[in-house]
Amino acid sequence: MRIELRVCYHCLRGEHENEHKTAVTRDLVACAEVVKEYKDVIDLEDVHIRKVREDEGDDGRPAALPAVAATIQNEGVAVSDTQLITMGENGYMLVYPNPQDALKVLAGNIDEISKVTGGDILPDLSPEGAEILSGAPLGGGPEAEHGGNPGAAHGGPAGGPGAGGPAQGQPDTDSPADDGPNTQ
Ligand SMILES: [Zn+2]
Repeated sequence: MRIELRVCYHCLRGEHENEHKTAVTRDLVACAEVVKEYKDVIDLEDVHIRKVREDEGDDGRPAALPAVAATIQNEGVAVSDTQLITMGENGYMLVYPNPQDALKVLAGNIDEISKVTGGDILPDLSPEGAEILSGAPLGGGPEAEHGGNPGAAHGGPAGGPGAGGPAQGQPDTDSPADDGPNTQ
C-alpha cells in the first residue's frame, strides 16, 4: 500500500491563524512521520507527506498519488489542502478528505506497527487530535458546551442536492447481462 498525506504548509506552521486546524495538521504530520519511519514493518511501499504552499513555486499538484479532493466554493473549484490518500495492491485509491478520518487511518497504521514492534510509538498529540482518536462524539453530545464547536456543521436535513451521497458505495457490480457491447 502507498500513502500520501496532503496538508497545508501554512497551517502546519500556524501561519493561517486557525488553531484547531494547526493542531490537527501537526498531529497528522506527526503520525505520518511515524508511519513513514516504520513503513517496512507493515509492508507499506511508500509514505509521502505533501506540504502544499501558497506561493507561486507550488502548483498544488499531488506528489505520489494523483488525486486531489475538491469542493465548489463561490462557484469555483477549490482543491482541498488536507486529505489522505491510500492506494492498495488492487490499484484502488481511497481519498479521505476529512482530517478526522485521515488521523484515524494513520493512527490505525501506527496501531498495527506497534503490535508488531511491541512498543508505544504513538506521537504526542494535541488535545484536538486525542479527542478525535478517543472516539468522542463530535457534536450532539449532551455536554457539548464548547463555545464555538468547529466541525459540528452536520448537514441539515433541508435541501440536499439529491444525488450526492457519501462516497461509501461498493464499486459497481459487473454488468448485469451478457449483452457485452462488442464494438469493433
Ligand atoms: Zn492553511
